Amino acid sequence: MTNDNLLPQMAEIWQQTLNWQPTVQQQEQFQRLYELILEGNLQLNLTRITDPLEFWEKHLWDSLRGITTQMQFIPSLQAGASVIDIGTGAGFPGIPVALAVPNCTVTLLDSTRKKITFLDKVLTELTLTNTKTLIGRAEEIGQQLQQRQTYDIALIRAVGTASVCAEYALPLLKQSGLAIIYRGNWTENETTALENAVNQLGGVIESIEAFTTPLSESIRHCLYLRKVAPTSASFPRTVGLPSQKPL
Ligand code: SAH
Repeated sequence: MTNDNLLPQMAEIWQQTLNWQPTVQQQEQFQRLYELILEGNLQLNLTRITDPLEFWEKHLWDSLRGITTQMQFIPSLQAGASVIDIGTGAGFPGIPVALAVPNCTVTLLDSTRKKITFLDKVLTELTLTNTKTLIGRAEEIGQQLQQRQTYDIALIRAVGTASVCAEYALPLLKQSGLAIIYRGNWTENETTALENAVNQLGGVIESIEAFTTPLSESIRHCLYLRKVAPTSASFPRTVGLPSQKPL
């Protein structure tokens, strides 16, 4: 390994922004994850973000910022929540969440077999025993009895528009479960449109958090949707429809 591929520690920034710091072991796991992704990138199109500082901010920090409210990781996560990361790609935000909160169990879902094969190797190398992978389309997984309504928390980042993300996530949640949609920009107008979609899915928009990333000072948002009623069996609609005809 060359020095160029060494992740920064950032203990103080972790502490100040999330009131948390990785242990020595977690820091080693972050480092190993970074190396595996750089290696995997030679074969697969995993991520454009390969600079160590950018990787730290956009993949590690951003993943954990989404599960932080009031300067702590969401309490149900720490109490052992079951989590699904929908369209996880190279494992974000699911892998950093599984690493940082060992009590929760995380399912990494992606429709691309090659990515899942890569992630299986990563999980073995990181000895992440609270994490498993699942291949499939969110539209199909959300209709499977053994998956539907079984998760406490659904994470979803960079998979589609917010209403598409809501249609993928809400059917998978148990009653009173939480969907966390990671976004870049967000406007008030979008909230109104999303409200309509979320209502049809048995959810409410519980909160929207805006924040600034600690290194590049980019604006990010997380949308927190609460499932308050069962989702109609007609959702998620068949493969492709949620994005072609958004709610
Ligand atoms: N969440 C990751 C990856 C985003 S790229 C990150 O933020 O870095 C989007 C990923 O979602 C891709 O890996 C793609 O294969 C997957 N994906 C897109 N549509 C999907 C669907 N309907 N069901 C499951 N996975 C999907």
